[in-house]
Amino acid sequence: MAGADTVARPAEELPPELDDPLFHQALGQLDGVVERAGVSAGLAEVLRFPERALAVAVPVELDDASMAVFPGYRVQHSSVLGPTKGGIRFDPEVTLGECAALAMWMSWKCALLRLPYGGAKGGVRCNPRSLSDGERERLTRRFTAELLPVIGPQRDIPAPDMATDEQTMAWMMDTYSMQVGHAVPGIVTGKPLSVGGSVLRPEATGIGVVMVVEEAVRRLGWTLSDLSVVVQGCGKVGGVACRELAERGARVVGVSDIGGGVHAPDGLDVVALDGWRREQGAVAGFPGADDVTNAELLELPCDVLVLAATEEQLTGENADRVRARLVAEGANGPTTLAADEILAERGIPILPDILTNAGGVAVSYFEWVQDIQRLFWDAAEIRTRLGELMRGALDRVWRLAEAEELPLRRAALVLSIREVAAALRARGIHP
Ligand code: GLU
Repeated sequence: MAGADTVARPAEELPPELDDPLFHQALGQLDGVVERAGVSAGLAEVLRFPERALAVAVPVELDDASMAVFPGYRVQHSSVLGPTKGGIRFDPEVTLGECAALAMWMSWKCALLRLPYGGAKGGVRCNPRSLSDGERERLTRRFTAELLPVIGPQRDIPAPDMATDEQTMAWMMDTYSMQVGHAVPGIVTGKPLSVGGSVLRPEATGIGVVMVVEEAVRRLGWTLSDLSVVVQGCGKVGGVACRELAERGARVVGVSDIGGGVHAPDGLDVVALDGWRREQGAVAGFPGADDVTNAELLELPCDVLVLAATEEQLTGENADRVRARLVAEGANGPTTLAADEILAERGIPILPDILTNAGGVAVSYFEWVQDIQRLFWDAAEIRTRLGELMRGALDRVWRLAEAEELPLRRAALVLSIREVAAALRARGIHP
């Protein structure tokens, strides 16, 4: 049954809550590879929809004693390979449809790395910058309490994402643990070390991005220390990627944050820039560099453009003007379907998000395994294991892309979807 190759699709293709540009992007990617992956139409139909989505209201008493209610979501795309896994973001733009797209990508990401997880994503629609620490804590704890029916260390394991961090995870872990009556470190990953976190987890996504870039560059016959790099975003992913790239000898010529960017064709001192940003609150105005807008940053001449900010950055509108020779996706979904096509036509390869930024969930997996075993590894061991996972996945993607003449994203999606579909076929659909 689960292999059915015809589909009875209801008249309205998508329920309105999934009718979101990012979900269309995720669906477009999936639909574009189903045939190539050899997955039956019936199985593909199952994979198009999230298994479960929870929408909650999160009431928070603000510091001025007023009450605010924030919408929150958790979407679980597929639990066929194991517990679902994925971050929680605090962002004014969060929607259920966006979480559904990001959850689907988490499924592909975990499958591509052969982690025993399905994909999930969640978030609270709020402006994190306007909340005090106390308000953020109350928001996090109440949101966690609302998620209790669907999360658990064997069910669904949240992690940090945009505007959430180790402290957020500690509050989530504590709220869950207080409910069950004992400490449950494996309920979230990306925790502080003091409550069962893993060394290198905070830097893992950025380190993984650079591992993938380094290996891709080597396969292209280039040398990282001869290359110029532009990095969009200098948060948890972009900031670490900048530092790691500079340490490997690459010339970082452009960096941006939410307010704008800086450009120095001879290279930026990334350590001094980081100090400047911490002091001034923004990269703009960094001595010796020119200020550029975020839009201009994406169009700077460089060898490698690392997208480490947010989704939908390269679009049908600006992809023509990208002057990089290689694009690396540190963020989730930064390249729209239209931009994908334009860059493919122009022969600019894209290192896709589900491969390139998978270092975060890879070390989350290591953290969860350590929590379950109550046995902790050192940084050298984590770095070695992360390198093996990232290079192994890149190798599988690269080989399929070469053998079947596919863009790297399509190759990565084919491999991931085959993994999930094989498990779904073996398990079948419970009636
Ligand atoms: N939020 C990260 C991502 O998008 C990490 C998820 C996790 O570690 O579970 O991949």
